[in-house]
Amino acid sequence: RIYKRQLACRADILRLDAPLTAIYESLIPTAEEKAKQRQLLTSLERLVNREWPNAKLYIYGSCANSFGVSKSDIDICFALEGADNNKPEILLRLAEILESDNLENVQALVRARVPIVKLKDPATEISCDICVNNVLAVVNTKLLRDYARIDVRLRQLAFIVKHWAKSRGVNETYHGTLSSYAYVLMCIHFLQQRRPAILPCLQEMKTTYSVTIENVHCAFFDRVDELRDFGRRNNESISQLVWSFFNYWAYGHDYANSVISVRTGSTLSKRAKDWTRRVGNDRHLICIEDPFETTHDLGRVVDKYSIKVLREEFERAAEVLQHDPNPCSTTDGCTAT
Ligand code: ATP
Ligand code: MG
Repeated sequence: RIYKRQLACRADILRLDAPLTAIYESLIPTAEEKAKQRQLLTSLERLVNREWPNAKLYIYGSCANSFGVSKSDIDICFALEGADNNKPEILLRLAEILESDNLENVQALVRARVPIVKLKDPATEISCDICVNNVLAVVNTKLLRDYARIDVRLRQLAFIVKHWAKSRGVNETYHGTLSSYAYVLMCIHFLQQRRPAILPCLQEMKTTYSVTIENVHCAFFDRVDELRDFGRRNNESISQLVWSFFNYWAYGHDYANSVISVRTGSTLSKRAKDWTRRVGNDRHLICIEDPFETTHDLGRVVDKYSIKVLREEFERAAEVLQHDPNPCSTTDGCTAT
C-alpha cells in the first residue's frame, strides 16, 4: 500500500525539496549562538567549582547531540562523584549559588523524575536545565550525535520532524505526546529501515567506545568518520524521506505488536519485551525502546487519548504534504499549523 502511494506522489513530493531544505537551514543555530552557549557553560563551571572544586559540567541534549534548533534551552549535567546519595540537597545548594550570582528564574525541581535546577542567564537570554549525575543522558547524547555525523539527511529529517511536532503541539510529554529524544530515535529507526539503508546500527557493530553507567553497559562503534559513505546507494531526498516518515508512522508501523529498537536496528515484538499490557502508568501504546536502558519505553507517556491524536497527526502530515498546494507555508501546512 505504501509503495503504491509512494510511486503515485513522487513528483508531487519532490517539489518540496527546496522549501523543506529552506526550513532546515533557517533552524540551524548560528556560530554566534553556539559560542554564547559555550561561554555560559564556562562561567557556570567557574561558579560551581568555587563550592565543588572537582565538579564538571557537561552539555547534553539537543545543544550537544546536533539536533538542537536555534534558541533551544541548554541541558547541563553536573557531574560530581559521591553526589548520588544527596541529589536534592546539592540541587538546593546549587540553586542558592546561582541565585546569588544574579541568574534569573532560578527554580529547583527536586521531585521531578529527573530532578533539575532551572535558570535563565539575563546576559544571553539562554535558559538552562541542570541535573546531577545523569551520565546516561550524556552517553545517549553522544550516540545521537554520532548517528548525525553519518548522513546529513538524519539531521534534516529530525529538524523538520521536531519543528512539526512543536508546531502541532505533539512534543509535550506532560500531555501524553512524545519527547524530542523519542522523535529523534524514530527518525534513526526509520533511516535504518530504508532499503538501501541510510543509517547502520552502531550498537551491532564492532565496539570502539564503551562505558558502564549504573550497571548499564553502553557499547557501540563510534568511528563514524569511516561511515560517511554508508547511505550513498540510497538517493532519496529530504522531501521523499519526510513524506515516507509520516506515512510509515501513519500506515506502516504495527502499533499492536511492534517495538522500535535503534539498538538492534530493527523492530522487536511487544510480547518478547512483555510490553503488551498496562503496568502502572506505562501503557505501551507506541513502543520505543531506549538504546541503553532497554527496559525503558519512551512511548510510555502516551495514553489512549494521545495515541489517537498522534496517529491522526501523522496521517494529517502525510496528507498535507501530498495534497496541500503550499504545505510548508507558515500559515497553513505541515510544519506550521
Ligand atoms: P529539545 O531541543 O526539544 O530540548 P532535547 O533532545 O534536548 O530536545 P529534552 O527533552 O530536553 O530533549 O531532553 C534532553 C536530553 O535528555 C535528551 O537528548 C536525552 O539525552 C535525555 N532524555 C530525555 N528524555 C529521556 C528519557 N525519557 N530517557 C532517557 N534520556 C532522556
Ligand atoms: Mg533540551
